[in-house]
Amino acid sequence: MKRASFLLPVATLAALLLVADSAKARDRGADGEFSKRTSRHFVLYQDVDIDRTSGFRGSRRFEQQTLEVLEAAYDQLAEKLGLRPERPITVVVYDPGVFDARFGGLFRFPAAGFYGDSIHLRGDTVVTDRLVAVLHHEFVHAALHDAAPTLVVPAWLNEGIAEWFEARALGKRQLAAEEKSWLRDRAEKGQLYSLAELSTPNLGHLEPAAARAAYLQSYAFVDFLVRRHGERRLREALADFLRTRKLERSMQRSYRDSLPDLEARFREDL
Ligand SMILES: [Zn+2]
Repeated sequence: MKRASFLLPVATLAALLLVADSAKARDRGADGEFSKRTSRHFVLYQDVDIDRTSGFRGSRRFEQQTLEVLEAAYDQLAEKLGLRPERPITVVVYDPGVFDARFGGLFRFPAAGFYGDSIHLRGDTVVTDRLVAVLHHEFVHAALHDAAPTLVVPAWLNEGIAEWFEARALGKRQLAAEEKSWLRDRAEKGQLYSLAELSTPNLGHLEPAAARAAYLQSYAFVDFLVRRHGERRLREALADFLRTRKLERSMQRSYRDSLPDLEARFREDL
């Protein structure tokens, strides 16, 4: 099953870290001492239980590679969507066992990471494709939050861009054939979500199957917008929305089409 990643409101995060603190006494796996390493735009804290410091599977290499992936994500997001966070972004990488013990029970589906005031990740001992994807995904949430900290971004836009950006990072140019047919099937059964239903601040409340559908549909809609109208329009709409906080009007300006009309054309496109 795909390990979803998502974002949490800061208030939820505060409550969650409180739980994490009380859980601290119980979990042992990594040593609980986070090593810190910085790059141009990121501050990385890492506590994965990696046996050695140096060498191919050493912790130093892991930290350097993780920061390289993040810096590449920074450049990519700046180029694609014009988002360039100015304050350094904190990224905390937990040992998988520690992450599951602290945060696992708090989500309704297995989580690979989440964004609150910083990026929290279920780590690995080497930089896998999965980790690359989650780093890109959570960075989108961090960048949007940095651009407009008090703005509530609808889940379809926030998660849709995050899913789209992580797919691009792995070289995926569009929805996979099985993803398309799965969505088409849901459309035929009248089971697609409306954009209004996907406009909650996050999707963390959904059951696993519902969450999978909601994430995929959000991604599919952003994919549709980019495929049909290019990255530039999305970049313009996003910049306008972050400035004016009026999404419907920003979409209308960039796409010369209302959000309900774009939604209708997305459904036809399926
Ligand atoms: Zn997310």
